[in-house]
Amino acid sequence: MGKRVLIAGFKHETNTFSIMPTDLAAYRARDYHVGDEIAKAYSGTNTEIAAFLDGCKKHGWEPILTIAADATPSGKVTREAYETIAGQIVDAAAGAGKLDAILLNLHGAMVCEHTFDGEGTLLERLRAKLGRSILIAATLDLHANVTAAMAKHADILVSYRTYPHIDMYDIAAETVEIVAQTLAGKIKPKTYLAQGPLITGVDEGRTTAPGPMLEILAKAEELKKEPGVLAISINAGFPWADLPEVGPTAVVVGDGGDDPRFAKMAEELSAYIWETRHRTTVQHRSAAEAVARAKAKGRPGAPVVLADFADNPGGGGYCDTTGLLRGMIEAGLENAAMSALYDPESAAACHVAGLGATLTLRIGGKVDSSYGAPIDTQATVTHLSDGKFRIEGPIFRGLAVDMGPTATVKVGGVEVVLSSRRFQNYDRNFFRVGGIEPSERAVLAVKSMQHFRAAYAPLASEILVVDEGGGITSHDLKKLAFKHVRRPVWPLDTN
Ligand SMILES: [Zn+2]
Repeated sequence: MGKRVLIAGFKHETNTFSIMPTDLAAYRARDYHVGDEIAKAYSGTNTEIAAFLDGCKKHGWEPILTIAADATPSGKVTREAYETIAGQIVDAAAGAGKLDAILLNLHGAMVCEHTFDGEGTLLERLRAKLGRSILIAATLDLHANVTAAMAKHADILVSYRTYPHIDMYDIAAETVEIVAQTLAGKIKPKTYLAQGPLITGVDEGRTTAPGPMLEILAKAEELKKEPGVLAISINAGFPWADLPEVGPTAVVVGDGGDDPRFAKMAEELSAYIWETRHRTTVQHRSAAEAVARAKAKGRPGAPVVLADFADNPGGGGYCDTTGLLRGMIEAGLENAAMSALYDPESAAACHVAGLGATLTLRIGGKVDSSYGAPIDTQATVTHLSDGKFRIEGPIFRGLAVDMGPTATVKVGGVEVVLSSRRFQNYDRNFFRVGGIEPSERAVLAVKSMQHFRAAYAPLASEILVVDEGGGITSHDLKKLAFKHVRRPVWPLDTN
């Protein structure tokens, strides 16, 4: 009888400082696919689930498709959303009959209303139902806050090795091969975890410039040549999360029973994360400084790209803070565009007013105006759409996006794409859905801290990162009120 492998995806990167809860509606608005819908949604895309499906075909395994759910990073996952989705996975595993392995597509930084550790809790419940004999492998984001419970209850944990993340298919395919070797009885994987006293590190995991992340990945590649090493992951952690086990980790998957060699490798890598904690490849600028430079340097065909770091919806930011946009408008930028700013009310008003209409709008600053007041202005509607498109890539190439009713308005020389849902701009189609060809603009502004580089670095004459210390994804972690994190910890308490 062939092997039977259960596949499930349950992802979230939780910013515990966000006031926006992540409920079932938030999952349904982004990715929520059950049973056979999963293959339709993910086959042929640059995603972990696509690699899981291809792996089943390659090895002749019977896939049991349960649920694949993802929501845009935001506040804590509600008890209802967690129990509904985790419950479906655990029930499917318990009711599947003979099962050989479980392939989980997780993020690794999920915090819920009722648990600090969404992934660890799910894995623990699966173990409680199935025991240790079922192989459990999980893929993680490079920004996972890996916990002791996750390492204990999963046999195999493998994380992305790129930031911007473009290797989701590749690391899942690698995970599948470790699973195949295990099911063939050739190896017996076990996961080893090490974490130092810090909540951020390895330059937040950036792999776009020489720096600590590329150095430590090179060290990991060397260690991987030693006998029995199956996978090594370096997780930068997700620091905008107030929980005991937040922070960077090194994770080694080794063959055999308990072997102190693997634990020592994880500790060595973790020590390197600590040693390199002060090094960064990014300079954070004020909006005024960045806008002035963009005005002087940007030209059509070679735009200056402004990254609104502190309001990155990919890290839970509200995607509606107004500081950078206000700076662009007040500086009188021409041929400039921002995408996207989350403002369903204004987008709806534009759809009512119609294409070409000029109307009075109150743009942005609506979720929490303490991070910047709304912009009250006259604006002209230059484009209307349903907000639906497919990702050009490389990040999540082929995946469908639905931003809800979307409108582009022009204020002076600045066009703003107003969306009804929050999305990080990591793809040029986030402008095109607003009727804007990014290569034709002199200045582009994106709500993103790093992922935008995958799409825009080849286009940009210069990239400027804007972060004045406001916003719930600011690099200035000392401005956030941490209560639950282990202490002392860098950079809150130590140097
Ligand atoms: Zn990430």
